[in-house]
Amino acid sequence: YYNQNTLVYLNGEFVKANQAGVDLFGQSLHYGYGAFEGLRAYSTHNGTRIFKAEAHFERLRKSCEALRLPYTWDNRTLIEKSYELLEANNLRAAYIRPLIFSGSNMHLTSSDQASIMIAAWEWGPYLGQNLLRVNISSIERPNPRSFPIEAKASGQYINSILATSDALRHGFDEALLLDQEGFVAQASSENLFIEKDFKIYTPPLENVFPGITRQTVINICKELGFDIIEKKLTIQDIYSADSAFLSGTAAEIIGIKQVDDVIYKEEWEHSIGASIQRKYKNLVLEQENYEVII
Ligand code: PMP
Repeated sequence: YYNQNTLVYLNGEFVKANQAGVDLFGQSLHYGYGAFEGLRAYSTHNGTRIFKAEAHFERLRKSCEALRLPYTWDNRTLIEKSYELLEANNLRAAYIRPLIFSGSNMHLTSSDQASIMIAAWEWGPYLGQNLLRVNISSIERPNPRSFPIEAKASGQYINSILATSDALRHGFDEALLLDQEGFVAQASSENLFIEKDFKIYTPPLENVFPGITRQTVINICKELGFDIIEKKLTIQDIYSADSAFLSGTAAEIIGIKQVDDVIYKEEWEHSIGASIQRKYKNLVLEQENYEVII
């Protein structure tokens, strides 16, 4: 992710990543009390463009609010700093990771300032480009009554790491997690879509993370005239689908070829998901007027 020349943005300054220090007594390190984002910058005809930067920093602000972490930054400034960071590191296309974390031993009632760091690195699609084999995990999504699951909270990702490492151990590429009612909610760090009888289905927001790519996929479906239905999906719905795919900033749009021992018969290239994948690629690479569509 970084070398001796890599710069990160830390509390208002650009500093060398390998010289930046954090407080060993901060709550973020001990309890995972922090919030972060994941954005992607693409090299477009108009130069480097961060896709949906406003939406991502707005979600970061909301994540902090939900976690009662003070968010004292102006999103516009953070977007500008992200572009400066890309330039400083000579990156034209990159993954960008802002992280809000507690300074020294910060408590909920404290008026301490939270810390911010933004890092960026070159990163291919998170799950690769080959069709995925996924399993239905025995590890459930976090309970929305115990935790604001719409917040991109650092600690939440213990759940994702456990589910993914379990899937990898069993020879799969990624995990699908159930919600507390036993419906299939999403993958460890991506949202889930299935195609059945020429319609696209995705679980409603109540038990899933509000993915920005999920919303882009919904908008693409509407624009291209595909039926898109938000509906709770059973394991049987997933097994009996014609095809399926995942969405996320890091993973982009990636097709699934197999869930547990069920292999989808429809050729991915002929699926609606593949059309959406092509449209998404165009959208991120030609960002001149995405604001109009999305
Ligand atoms: N679910 C979880 C749990 C995630 O962490 C992410 C990535 N932030 C997603 C879904 C996809 O969200 P987005 O499309 O905004 O990247």
